[in-house]
Amino acid sequence: MKFLLKISIITMVLLATVAGQAFAAEYADTLRVGICYGSGAVDSLDFESSSDIYAGILNGREFIPVKLIDASLVTAKPDLVDSAAAYHVIYSSHETPEDAHLAVASLNESGIECFIGYKNSSFCAMGGNYKSMNDAQWAAENLAAAGTPVASSASAVRLVDALGKTQFLVDDTAKGLAVYSSDFEDPDTLLKISGPAKGTYRGGFECRALTAGKLTIVNVVPVESYLYSVVCREMSPSWNVEALKAQAVCARNFALGRINYHKQYGFDVCRTVCCQAYSTDADQSQNVHTAVDTTKGELLFYEDQLVQAVYSSSMGAYTESVENVWGSKFPYLVSVENPYEDTENIYNGKWTKTLTADRATEIMHSKGYNIGDVIEIKVIENTPAGGVLKLLVRGTGGEKVFERESCRSIFSEATYSQRYTVTKGGQTIKPVLYIASGTSKTSPVTLGSVSVLTGSKAVTSVNDACTVSDGKAKKTYKTTQTNGDANTYTFSGEGWGHGVGMSQYGAKGMAEAGFNYEEILTHYYTGTHIKKAY
Ligand SMILES: [Zn+2]
Repeated sequence: MKFLLKISIITMVLLATVAGQAFAAEYADTLRVGICYGSGAVDSLDFESSSDIYAGILNGREFIPVKLIDASLVTAKPDLVDSAAAYHVIYSSHETPEDAHLAVASLNESGIECFIGYKNSSFCAMGGNYKSMNDAQWAAENLAAAGTPVASSASAVRLVDALGKTQFLVDDTAKGLAVYSSDFEDPDTLLKISGPAKGTYRGGFECRALTAGKLTIVNVVPVESYLYSVVCREMSPSWNVEALKAQAVCARNFALGRINYHKQYGFDVCRTVCCQAYSTDADQSQNVHTAVDTTKGELLFYEDQLVQAVYSSSMGAYTESVENVWGSKFPYLVSVENPYEDTENIYNGKWTKTLTADRATEIMHSKGYNIGDVIEIKVIENTPAGGVLKLLVRGTGGEKVFERESCRSIFSEATYSQRYTVTKGGQTIKPVLYIASGTSKTSPVTLGSVSVLTGSKAVTSVNDACTVSDGKAKKTYKTTQTNGDANTYTFSGEGWGHGVGMSQYGAKGMAEAGFNYEEILTHYYTGTHIKKAY
C-alpha cells in the first residue's frame, strides 16, 4: 500500500495564469525539473556515472559540453569569495572551449597548473584557488605567464574530482555549471547524485549558486524521459496500460503547460506533488515505458488550446467543474460522472474525520480568522455535482464563509476533498471499567454505577467522570469521549484531491472495463481530442 500514499493530490492554484493560452506549434523538448532549491538548496553535490561525465554550460535548454571529466565521481560546490580558495588568475579568454583547452595545455606545460573556466561569457584558461587576492596578484605577476587576478562572485560554481582538483569553474550570474553523462538523451543512461534527493536520474544537471554558499540543482531532461519518472510515481506501474497511457498524456500536457512555472529558481516543474511527483530513482517498468513510448508526442487539445490536464487520485460519484474549485472557467473541465472508480475500496476513497470545536478554533486563528470560539460549521451551498461550494464557520465573535477550494483547504486535516457533508456531534461512547487482579480481570462494568476501594488506592466513578487516585494524587477522566462530544464536527466525504479533470482511480476502472486511453481522456476532459505534436 506504500505506493498509494504517493499518488499526488495536484493543487493547481495558479491555473488562471495560463488560462486560455493558445500554444504555438512548437513545444519544449527538454524540461528543467527542480531537484534541490529554496530551503532545500545544498552545500555541495556528488555526481557519479558508469559512463563518461561531461562538464559544461547550458545555452537555454541545450547542453554545451566543455570538458570530458577523467573521473567517475565529481563534486560541485559554490566557489564563494569568503571561502578558503576563491581567488584565481585568468591567463587568457577564448570564444570556444577548444581554444581554451589548448591554452590550458600550453600553460600546464610551462609549469603553471591551470584549468578551464567560464567567466564573463568567455571560456578561459584559469589558475588558482588562491586564498587571497594578494596571493592571486603575486601569481599573476611572478609565474611564467602573466595574467589577471580575479575574485569569484557569489554565483561561481566549481567542479572538483575526488582528489580535490578543479575540473571546471563557471562564474556567471545567468548560467550554471552543467554535468551530463556522455549519452544523456538515451533514457538508459543514468547519473547518480548524492544529497537529500539522492538517486539515479536521466538527462543532466545544472548547478547554480542562487543563494550564498548553496547550490540549486536542476535536472535537465528530455520530456519523454521525464515522463517515465512521473508516470511510475503518479500511478502504479502494475495498472492497466491504457490507464498508464492516459496518465502519460496528462503528464505531458501538464508539464508543457508549466514551462518556467518555478522561474524564481530557474526551472519549469518541481519534483513534488506541487507539480507532478517525479521519481528519484528512474523507473524501468516495461508497462510505464510502453505507455510513454506508444503515446510519444501526443497532447490533448480543446480546439487549438493545449488542455490544462489536471487530475487527482479519486473523486467519488462526479468530478467537479473547475469554476467551483479555482474560479476560472474552462469548457473542457466540467463535471462528469465517474462511475468506474471503486471509491468504496480505495485508499482515502471514502473517509470520515472529526474535528473538535477547540481544534477548529485553533485552525481558524492560526490562519488569521479571528471569529472567537467556533460554534457552528455548516455547508450552506452545494455545487450541482454535489461538492461543497460554500462553507459557513460561525464563532462567538463573528463568522466567515469559505468558497470553492478553501472549503477543502481550511480544515484540510479533516477533509480529503471538496465533496463532503459535515455534522455536529457524533456517536456517544460510554466507557466501561475492568477490575484487574494480576492477569485476570472482571467483566466490564458501566461507569457511573461502580465504586472500588483497594487500601489507600481508589477508583471511583460518578455519573460521567472517573477518578483514579493512589492516595496522594488523583486524576479525573471524562467518561464521554471526544467522538461523542457535542462540540465535535464530523466530516464524511469521498474522493482524494481537488476533484477536477481526470480521476486516476476512475481511469484505472475505465481501463479495466475495456476503455482505451483516448476514451478515458475524452471522458474526463469534455470536447477534447488528441493530436500528435512531435
Ligand atoms: Zn511545483
